Amino acid sequence: MSIRVRFAPSPTGRLHVGNIYVALNNWLFAKKQGGKFLLRLDDTDRERSTLAYAAVIEDDLKWLGLVWDEFTRQSDRIDTYEAAAAKLKASGHLYPCYETAEELALQRKVQSSLGKSRVYDRAALKLTDADRQRLEAEGRRPHWRFKLDPRNVEWNDLVRGPQHIDESSQSDPILIREDGTFLYTLPSVVDDVELKVSHVIRGNDHVTNTATQIQIYEALGAKAPTFAHLPLLVDASGEGLSKRLGSLSIMQMREEGLEPMAINAYLARIGTGHAVEAVTGLEALIADHDLSKFGKTSPRFDPEELKHLNARLLHALSFDQVKPQLAALNFAQVDPALWEAARGNLEKIGDIALWQQICRSEIAPVVPDGGFAAKAAELLPGEPWDGDTWKTWTQTVQKTTGKKGKDLFMPLRLALTGLDHGPELKALLPLIGRDRALKRLRGERA
Ligand code: GLU
Repeated sequence: MSIRVRFAPSPTGRLHVGNIYVALNNWLFAKKQGGKFLLRLDDTDRERSTLAYAAVIEDDLKWLGLVWDEFTRQSDRIDTYEAAAAKLKASGHLYPCYETAEELALQRKVQSSLGKSRVYDRAALKLTDADRQRLEAEGRRPHWRFKLDPRNVEWNDLVRGPQHIDESSQSDPILIREDGTFLYTLPSVVDDVELKVSHVIRGNDHVTNTATQIQIYEALGAKAPTFAHLPLLVDASGEGLSKRLGSLSIMQMREEGLEPMAINAYLARIGTGHAVEAVTGLEALIADHDLSKFGKTSPRFDPEELKHLNARLLHALSFDQVKPQLAALNFAQVDPALWEAARGNLEKIGDIALWQQICRSEIAPVVPDGGFAAKAAELLPGEPWDGDTWKTWTQTVQKTTGKKGKDLFMPLRLALTGLDHGPELKALLPLIGRDRALKRLRGERA
């Protein structure tokens, strides 16, 4: 069987970490199995779907490196859904209902007050042709429900194990609205059949849909795919993510300067029991991807942990790996030596600006003891400088001034960088160069 999976976002908002968690697991699964990853835009909700959201979804996925092999959008395929609906109507699986939303709400209220289940009572199935003609003459238009077989639907879920849902506890789902537009349920099944999707990997908020959709596959004479329902992410305090989605959007993370691979590496491992590591490429994540490692417990998404992982990742990235990004961010003066000297001090790639400034541009030095700094300036060796210059120089300064340890190193750091912390001076000194070092030790801006 050829492996085909799909990520099916609705272009009604920006992608957030919860969506990417699903997208990434689909992508990794496809790559590991040598299969195909499809991007399908579920844009049947005409009022809320926009082209602008569709464009940013594509852009965010590309930025993360989750590139798709095939692309479809549901709004291009309405005819196909119409054909499937006609088939279901003809076979009696889809039936017209005329209740208004208010009537249905009232019905549920009455059922609740009588202690009955709130399942739709199928009153529409009892309508005669004459009833329907009368209702239509009153100006009512039908919505269409799928007639569920009230049985136990079973499947073997790749994440959750054997599942069963008693469909007698479910209302017949509405597949087509009064205005003739399709809800999500039917187009998704029709596409999964026609696009030959072999595995549906999605969030566990769709578990109940799955039982219903399995019945729709069967009614269409198709074989249901294999399902895998991932647990939904929660935040650091264990709450669902829905309230804070804005701050967890991929756009926000891009703006904050997080690395796409930090997001991928973090989302690929949380919830799997596998340690979160600063993995620098998607290939390494493909190798150990395994849906059976996910439990039912919700993985915690902690932005602080992601920030730390981002820093660890930067510390591990070579100059060649970040070169395109540095160029895009206009850090033209960052060369391999500067990158290697400073990367261990970065939390975000943009932090390199500070070290570029210190090594390649002008700063105000901090010189608390002018006499000591002037002496150190006099003792600066001639160029060329290398990785040993710092040691040779500070040994001479120590011998001459009698200062050692922090009393020796801190004033030199403050004068040379203007800061009391930072990368090893051994690496920075040759990058700062003799001219600047001399001036800074004399308390001049340089
Ligand atoms: N558009 C649906 C959603 O975003 C897709 C669900 C599915 O994967 O079937 O929830």
